[in-house]
Parts: sequence; C-alpha cells; structure tokens
Amino acid sequence: HPENLFGKDRVNSRGFDLRDPEVLEMIEQARAPWASHQWQGGPLLAGDLSRDGQTETVINPARPGDTVGQVGQSTPADVETALSNARIWDAPPEERAAALRRAADLYEEHYAELFALIAREAGKSQPDCVAELREAVDFLRYYADFASADAPRGLFTCISPWNFPLAIFTGQIAAALAAGNGVLAKPAETTSLVAWRAAQLLHEAGVPAHALQLLPGEGRVVGTALSSDARVNGVCFTGSLPTAQAINRAMAEHLSPDAPLIAETGGLNAMIVDSTALPEQAIRDILASAFQSAGQRCSALRILYVQEDVADKMLTMLHGAMDELRLGDPWHLETDIGPVINAAAKKGIDDHVAAARSDGRVLHRLKAPSRGHFVAPVSIRVGGIENIEREIFGPVLHVATFKAEDLDKVIAAINASGYGLTFGLHTRIDDRVEHIDRHLHVGNVYVNRNQIGAIVGSQPFGGEGLSGTGPKAGGPHYVPRFRAVPFTRNDG
Ligand code: GLU
Repeated sequence: HPENLFGKDRVNSRGFDLRDPEVLEMIEQARAPWASHQWQGGPLLAGDLSRDGQTETVINPARPGDTVGQVGQSTPADVETALSNARIWDAPPEERAAALRRAADLYEEHYAELFALIAREAGKSQPDCVAELREAVDFLRYYADFASADAPRGLFTCISPWNFPLAIFTGQIAAALAAGNGVLAKPAETTSLVAWRAAQLLHEAGVPAHALQLLPGEGRVVGTALSSDARVNGVCFTGSLPTAQAINRAMAEHLSPDAPLIAETGGLNAMIVDSTALPEQAIRDILASAFQSAGQRCSALRILYVQEDVADKMLTMLHGAMDELRLGDPWHLETDIGPVINAAAKKGIDDHVAAARSDGRVLHRLKAPSRGHFVAPVSIRVGGIENIEREIFGPVLHVATFKAEDLDKVIAAINASGYGLTFGLHTRIDDRVEHIDRHLHVGNVYVNRNQIGAIVGSQPFGGEGLSGTGPKAGGPHYVPRFRAVPFTRNDG
C-alpha cells in the first residue's frame, strides 16, 4: 500500500522496473561513466579539518583490482571540531521538511552515480541498489512529513551500517533532522564513500553544515568518542548487538540519563513452512529471504522449520531452485547475489560452513567465484534454533524439521533465542496464523511472502528483545523519539 499510515498524499518512490529491457538499457548507459570513477571522500565538518588524518583506499569487494576511491579518516581533533561546532537545526519545520524532500529529489537525480557507487563499494546487486535508493528516498519524504515545531533533543550521533549504506544512513539522519536536531554521522568503515556522497547531497539540498557533519573513520576512535561525550543528547545505531551494548554502557557512563539509544541490532530469524503451504511460493520466498543481498540483512531468514511430512519434497525443490541463482559481479545487471562485504566477513561465514561440513551437516552448496569476497549460498541441517550459536551474516540457511504436534515447542524455542526481529510463516490455516502471531515475540511477522524489504510508511521495521530498542523505522513513532519529551507534572 503506497500511502503512509497517516493517509497524507505522500507516495513511495516508484523505483525502476528491472523487467523492462529499456529500463535496463537506460541504467546501463547512465552508469557507464561511473564504471571506473574514483571518489575522493572524507570528513565533512562545520570547522577546519585536522591535517594529520590518514586516508583509506576503498576496494570493490567483488573485484580485488577495482579501486573505488579514497576516504579521509577523522581524527580525535576532527571529532572535537565537530562537537564544538554542532548546532541544532532551528529553521522552521516547513523549511526543514522542504530541504529533506529536495534531498530525495537530488538522490533520484543522481541515481546512476549512486547505483554505481553502491555496487562497487558495497557489492550490492542491481535490484538491491534500486531498493536501497527507493528506501532512502522514502525515508526522506516520510520523515519530512513529521517535521514539527516541537523542541528537538539537541545533538544526535547516528552510527550506520554497511549493509544499507544509503538507506539506513539516510533514514537515521532524516529522522533526527526532521525533529530539528543537529547530527554527527559516523558511517560504517566499509561504505564511507556512499555516506560521503549522500551527505553532500543533503547539504546541497539545504541542510546546514553545522546541522549535519560527517565523520568517517574507525568505530573505536570516532564511534566511541561520539557516544561518550556529554554534549551528545541521543544516539541512533544500527549494527551488531555487542556494539549496541558497548554504546549503551558508554552512554550510561557519560551522557545525561534521559539521552535515548535508538538501536536496531541483529536477529536469528525463523520461517515456518507447514504442510499446507503452497510449495512454489514458499520456495521463492525462502530463496529471497535467505539469499538476497547475500544474506546480509538483519531481517534475513536464518533458520527454516519445515513440517516433517513435506520436508523431502520441499528441500529437493529448494536445492533445485538454489542452483538457478546467479552469483557474481554485482555490476552485471543479471547478477542475483554479489559478494559479502570484506575478507573478515567471508572468513567468519566460511568458518561456520566448514564446521558444518566437517560434521556432515551441509545439505546443498553452490560454487562461488574464486576471486572477490564471495560466499556460496548453502543450506545446513540443524536440530533447531538452539543449535545456532550466533547470527551468521551471510547466505547460509539452516534447516530444521518439526512435527505438527510440536509447533508450540518451535515457537517457544524461537522466543527463547532472545532475538525477535522478523519471522516468516507459510500456511493456509488461518487459526495457525493467529496463534503464532499471538505467541511469538518478534517485531515483523510476514505471512505467505518473503520476510525482507520492509516498506517505509506501510511496514514499520524493528524488533524486540536483543534485536533492538524500537521505535520501528519507517513508522509513525520513529521521529517523535528524536524530539524532547515535554516535562509533564503529575497533579493527580
Ligand atoms: N529493513 C531491512 C529489511 O526489511 C533490513 C534492515 C537491516 O538489515 O538492518 O530487509
């Protein structure tokens, strides 16, 4: 449903129809000038840059020979410059909203450069690049509608992940700015160039330099400093659970007790497919949920529970369908699955798969290109969610079977994991949908469809428990969390 939850006249971005050969041709031609472009990014401060910052070279994760550009790293002096020059954005709400909407238009105008940069820096496939741009633009326009004259909290640190280098980077900042805060943005180390280019476009759209400063650099230098300085009034973070916990501790020690942490972390997301499910539909949705974006979404399917009676048939179909996936360089428009983000990510996933192989638990595995940080999609047999010790952030699908009478045990095991982000259910039994929805503690439940790609304004996204603090991104409660809460006296 394209309208937002308030029924205003905003509609989500149309995106690009990649089934249309003319659209593919247009994208191909528009991207061509960026095929070997070198971007030179770095901190964007409202004061002078220190001279002693290092420069990091960015390499395409799919192609070791492709240098994408250079990123200047912020120093502790730059962090201090940013903190001392940061100001809230005290323009009237209509002006703030107009600038955010203008930024959305600029993002769309620069689509070819952004597609090229996202593909080459983050390794995202073309369908993922389209979805990424759409989501970023939707966040800008959706949160712009929430700009109001209410008081902002002050300064927000926004720490964003590499798996949605444009969309989540933009969403956090747009929400904080819609509420009138000043923002100190610390993008993921691996995707700083996308963030740098996006921040430039936000400035070009009219966001003042003192209200949005960009501090690329290492988490332990920049992220730590920006979440443990008393001048900061709130932190918005998407990333791993251990990092969220470290930020929480730093904030508790150094920030005012009312400074919020708005964190979105990981998940051990499950899907249940029962014997009434439509097999072709379930298979299509399992593939998308587990393997799209090389499994590098916090919403991605990690463990599939198939009802025992249909398991053999389902797995035969699943493995046949996996063989059709095209793994390769995301620059090619026909690629379904690109690389994982870097060598360290690849090693962590490969180690997990190697352990499963040595136990004889690998059910099916594709072949990955040998150059670049590719991981072959794989299915691995497990007893249940309790046997997966951590979130494996890659194209790895764990598979368990269950008996119909044990459904409640499966629900209890999923709840016991402590995570609660997404959940998928394939069934044609209505009572089962209701029963599971009532008893399962997860943020986003998807029925008879895939469980990734929440749509701004119609599917607010966020989890429970170890998966995050809420409020859900892309929903009506998000921007209000970035505003000061008025003191109300309890006269009763
Ligand atoms: N919102 C994304 C989705 O629905 C996931 C966000 C994330 O991976 O952090 O797939």
